[in-house]
Amino acid sequence: MSALITADREQAVIAAAPTRLYIDGEWRDAREGRTLDVVDPSTGQVLTKVADASPEDGWDALKAAEAAQKGFATMPPRQRADILMNAFRLMHERKDDLALLMTLEMGKPLAEAYGEVNYAAEFFRHFAEEATRISGGYQTAPTGSARFLIHRQPVGPSILITPWNFPLAMGTRKIGPALAAGCTSVLKPAELTPLSMLALADILHEAGVPAGVVNIVVTSTAGEVTEPLIRSGIARKLSFTGSTPVGRKLLEQCAEKVLRTSMELGGNAALVVFEDADLDRAVEGAMLAKMRNSGEACTAANRIFVHSSVIEEFSQKLAEKMGAMKVGRGVDDDVKVGPMVDSRQRDKVAELVDDAVRSGAEVILGGEPAAGEGYFYPPTVLSGVPRRARMWSEEIFGPVAPLTPFDEEDQVIDWVNDTEYGLVNYVFTNDLTRAVRVAEQVESGMVGLNQGAVSNPAAPFGGIKESGLGREGGDVGIDEFLETKYIGIAM
Ligand code: NAP
Repeated sequence: MSALITADREQAVIAAAPTRLYIDGEWRDAREGRTLDVVDPSTGQVLTKVADASPEDGWDALKAAEAAQKGFATMPPRQRADILMNAFRLMHERKDDLALLMTLEMGKPLAEAYGEVNYAAEFFRHFAEEATRISGGYQTAPTGSARFLIHRQPVGPSILITPWNFPLAMGTRKIGPALAAGCTSVLKPAELTPLSMLALADILHEAGVPAGVVNIVVTSTAGEVTEPLIRSGIARKLSFTGSTPVGRKLLEQCAEKVLRTSMELGGNAALVVFEDADLDRAVEGAMLAKMRNSGEACTAANRIFVHSSVIEEFSQKLAEKMGAMKVGRGVDDDVKVGPMVDSRQRDKVAELVDDAVRSGAEVILGGEPAAGEGYFYPPTVLSGVPRRARMWSEEIFGPVAPLTPFDEEDQVIDWVNDTEYGLVNYVFTNDLTRAVRVAEQVESGMVGLNQGAVSNPAAPFGGIKESGLGREGGDVGIDEFLETKYIGIAM
């Protein structure tokens, strides 16, 4: 057990965690009194119960957001920025509780949970700074007969839907720009990990977010609650992070009232190691790109292509490092790999590994789900993974590194692009010209050059192809929540 986190401390943080719906600035039970269980994936035990919203609760939240929109849109940008900075500071003050709560409900190692609290808070600081820099324009018409005023206004009430793998950061990446732009919102976190977002609601309340401006609705019936809200047209925007199949369905719903959409969807990243790469650096990069969040990341390296002249050395080094990672409860000392989020996710990883082995891959490390309580799958390295293996085209979302050798640059670029996804790819080479050439040719919204992580609140995060629409973070993140209005002035 950890020297720092005792069972008493775990119970205390769970007992203090908000578990009700946050609507119109108040904590409320679900109308029908329903609750859902939040489970610790490292034990399979129920941690606590959380209010489980019905469609009527969802309506209450959207009505609150609608009512608050007009007033909030006129709040001075500096005041919105101050609220975001208050929230940033409060997140840091409460980082111990936030990190522990996240580890308990999602399973990630505590050190990674601290990293996520920090990353999540940075979105508030970044968008606090953006709030006061929303710019417009003034232009003379080409004929000289008019002037154009270009004004930026909030899109309006927004529906925000987030996944379980980064329970806090995927929320602040949306709430931050929404608040900065002057948009009210209804956020629906994942059913598996509601506690982090409810704890954040408490912080937003204390930071000075006015009633109705941010509403948090947890539910076990996501579609039933959100579909009528999306189809109502009261909300003018949907920002979604999750899987591509669900994103596709939501895009159809948004079409009815032509909602603005931001879609951060699935990924199938390739990591390419050329023969001229610094191999130790490439192994470090692969560790980060593969093992961050125990592989449960949209940015995770799903296919690792290594030049045949260095693949043996690379795979030995990678297997050594992955094999040395301690697997266990995220709260325990030195644990580097937590459980999968639930049994379904663990079984999917096992299924994909079995399929790859049947397709001809060789197991270098791991390869079998762990026995005992919790949903653990050990770090696994596979070599010789062929094109026909399902994991070439399906997200693994687990600590499995599939290696495939290549010989030619053109061949590997074709392989990288042989997927409907296009979120991120990683390239390791010491040849600058090749780095630029390959980075330009791979089909993805982001490229990591000699680095295994690209997420940064100050950079535009997002994908192309079926990985999504729009960007979060960077100087364009706020645009997703702004409309451009042009006012023509006769002269
Ligand atoms: P998911 O099943 O698509 O769920 C995401 C969110 O959508 C959850 O809140 C879920 O609620 C909700 N949802 C599910 N069905 C819905 C419906 N019919 N109507 C409205 N909402 C619905 O994805 P996930 O398994 O939580 O997350 C993993 C996926 O997210 C992976 O594909 C990963 O690549 C992607 N992801 C992408 C990014 C990115 O930035 N591109 C970042 C992180 C994750 P419930 O929890 O109640 O089902």
